[in-house]
Amino acid sequence: MAEQNYKRSRQRERLLELLRSTKEHPTASWLYDRLKIEFPALSLGTVYRNLGVLRDQGLLRVLAAGSTFDRFDADMRTHYHFMCERCGAVEDLALDPDLGIEQRAAQCSGRIVTGHRVEVFGFCEACASKESRPIGPSQ
Ligand code: ZN
Ligand code: MN
Repeated sequence: MAEQNYKRSRQRERLLELLRSTKEHPTASWLYDRLKIEFPALSLGTVYRNLGVLRDQGLLRVLAAGSTFDRFDADMRTHYHFMCERCGAVEDLALDPDLGIEQRAAQCSGRIVTGHRVEVFGFCEACASKESRPIGPSQ
């Protein structure tokens, strides 16, 4: 039993390390594919469960990327994202967060404001270069 618990917390630790080591804002299955090499008995369900535990512990955040799969981010600082409308890539935006918006939102709503998020949409570098090429059969 102790062994089981150890294995479980070890998997969660590695999951967080993996998420912290990437700028990809990966999906659960991206994380699962990589962890599976280390833990062959791992299931996708366990990855989802561990992601939920880490979220509840405030160690990661979930980015709902429109209609595509959830993306996960272990960078808990307030920062903005650029999302590609074509391939779903999520990139950090090098833009200073506007913390004044929280103050103004608190003032105009009379509510306690705990944070805000900004998502900018468009085409990533790879998709933008495809976009400028004429659509046709690829050679
Ligand atoms: Zn793209
Ligand atoms: Mn991010």
